[in-house]
Amino acid sequence: MTPEARASDRDHHRVLGLKSDASPEMIRAAYVRLIKKWHPDVNPAPRAHARFQRVTEAYRALTVADADDADWHAPEQRELDTGQVALAPLRCDRCGDLALQPRHIRFPIIVSALVYSWRRYDAGNFCPDCARKEALRASLITGLLGWWSVQGPFRVPKAILRNARGGEVDFERSLRLIYHNLLAYRHDGEGKVTAELGHLIKTSRQSLSLEASLIIASLPRHEPPATDGPDPWSPRLIQTLQHLLCGAFAPLTALFVAQML
Ligand SMILES: [Zn+2]
Repeated sequence: MTPEARASDRDHHRVLGLKSDASPEMIRAAYVRLIKKWHPDVNPAPRAHARFQRVTEAYRALTVADADDADWHAPEQRELDTGQVALAPLRCDRCGDLALQPRHIRFPIIVSALVYSWRRYDAGNFCPDCARKEALRASLITGLLGWWSVQGPFRVPKAILRNARGGEVDFERSLRLIYHNLLAYRHDGEGKVTAELGHLIKTSRQSLSLEASLIIASLPRHEPPATDGPDPWSPRLIQTLQHLLCGAFAPLTALFVAQML
């Protein structure tokens, strides 16, 4: 270690209120105590943000040297902090475009043959547009192939309604996807997008909301993101009608043909 590095290490220790021989446990305990005290969400003092940043920087500087001591960090974040792995923003499984707020969704598909019905799932991480298309595709297959067994008429309407409502969303997993994007965009210096995604995770009040608010607070310019934009995931009435049509088309055609005979 160079003399300069040793001197700045002493500064980092001082910011955390520790002596230079403090153990990793002591460093972590001091860090947790201080971020609770200075976090801008709990401390309205004007200097709180600057203090919070200094504490975070000092802690990072002291722990990055020994990555094993930072195991409480989310793995993605630790990799970023040590600069070893740069995360790429996630892409939609279907169209391959960057998906800012991807969701992990599965869409039930029913296929029937006389005495039995099979349910399988079409699953993936989708952007809102592709999720709508996948849902419709699942309903179309279900509507064409799902009715034709004893169980079919019971299972098909359920599956169609579920797809019309946007499929079965794994919200916990989706939040992790958004958190992944948040880390990737923060790494790329995209402060506005990072703040937007952080805000989204924070307001979900699920796991990771503390991590998200810590990241928002550590951004260079701490501006609250605009929240009045349209939600790309909000359901549309036309979708429900399309799904009902997909479901009803085959049996109605069959009835029509039967009457003609
Ligand atoms: Zn897509």
